Amino acid sequence: MSNQNFDLHHLWHPYTSLTRPLPCYEVDSAEGVYLQLKDGRRLVDGMSSWWACLHGYNVPELNAAATAQLGKMSHVMFGGLTHDPAIELCRALTKVLPSALDRFFLADSGSVSVEVALKMAIQYWHGRGTPKTRFASLSRGYHGDTFGAMSVCDPNGGMHSLYKGFLPEHIFVSRPESCFGEEFDQSDLQALEAVFEQHHHELAALILEPVVQGAGGMRFYHPNYLKGARELCERYDVLLIADEIATGFGRTGKLFACEWAGISPDIICIGKALTGGYMTMAATITTKHVAETICNGPAGVLMHGPTFMANPLACAVALASLKLLLESPWQQRIQSIEEQMRRELAPALELPSVADVRVLGGIGVVELHEPLNVAEVQKQLVELGVWIRPFGKLFYIMPPYVIQPDELSKLTSAMVAVCEGV
Ligand code: PMP
Repeated sequence: MSNQNFDLHHLWHPYTSLTRPLPCYEVDSAEGVYLQLKDGRRLVDGMSSWWACLHGYNVPELNAAATAQLGKMSHVMFGGLTHDPAIELCRALTKVLPSALDRFFLADSGSVSVEVALKMAIQYWHGRGTPKTRFASLSRGYHGDTFGAMSVCDPNGGMHSLYKGFLPEHIFVSRPESCFGEEFDQSDLQALEAVFEQHHHELAALILEPVVQGAGGMRFYHPNYLKGARELCERYDVLLIADEIATGFGRTGKLFACEWAGISPDIICIGKALTGGYMTMAATITTKHVAETICNGPAGVLMHGPTFMANPLACAVALASLKLLLESPWQQRIQSIEEQMRRELAPALELPSVADVRVLGGIGVVELHEPLNVAEVQKQLVELGVWIRPFGKLFYIMPPYVIQPDELSKLTSAMVAVCEGV
């Protein structure tokens, strides 16, 4: 059995069937913005491996950080032990995160960081002596695939109905309709206020993706909504959890999407690009006040402690990635990517298959009227020399920040060509 056949029948890929598997392309190596396939083809990467590889692949500075750390230790338990990579990373993050967020929990993946955020919120209310255990979340929100995270994802996807009876039931609020860059309609906040008015006594927190709803529709909403949500959280005494796992580290044009609204949440989740896409690590960060309230509560501790917590290898690479990002002209890069995507994706809007084209920072989205046939479109895209993974009606790119104009044109022209053919 060839490797590819073994993969097809034995290895699950994200959200796939093992009886009706979708084809996969074998990657041999990756460098800069290119994925080198085993069959010799070289593809321009439009996905940054799902928002993560913001510097591209095989990055000398990140390789050096990993190699240096490997020579010292790749992992040690974090219970009772600590190390410079974790301490230095958290110190450096303190300087760039929205204000007052400086109490860290280093988790193993984005979903786990969301679990930890939910636990923090629940334990916070225990600490306050008024337990609250429900969450409010936005329709079309997405926060991960573990059970707690799933329970705050949009309830109309397959996941809620599939696990009904097991998933806790939370409260969903209609997502904002006012789009980024357009007029803000103040009535967008009415649904949230109504939910808070009715349920604030049982709501531990509101969780949302600031400004960009990713997997739930790739929509960019008005920052005033976020500002208003922050104010309502204050007024009704509900914590605010910002899930910046996808938006963090410059993707929207600000280092963190919360900056668009000038707000700071009570708890923030970061992941994906945290390690420059090198390995899995995420973090849940909160304020001194929340941390102290948790730790003065009945449990006395925060109840979470994974085996690979604060993995030194991941911390060392994350620190190098942050340094590389901050030393790079990342704002200018995102701005030119944004301008070029706006220009080059605009023609798609004229096509009958296309419902909308939208761009924010380093994210370019073409929304179609009908879902795309992923296997077919993927084949076409690979033949055009690009790696873009559409889902449903959404055809989108978020390339590594180091992409060059001619490489980006290859991505946008492939998108337009595919839309012309459907
Ligand atoms: N929250 C958001 C906004 C995400 O985009 C993702 C990843 N798709 C997650 C949480 C979950 O992260 P992970 O896949 O690392 O568990």
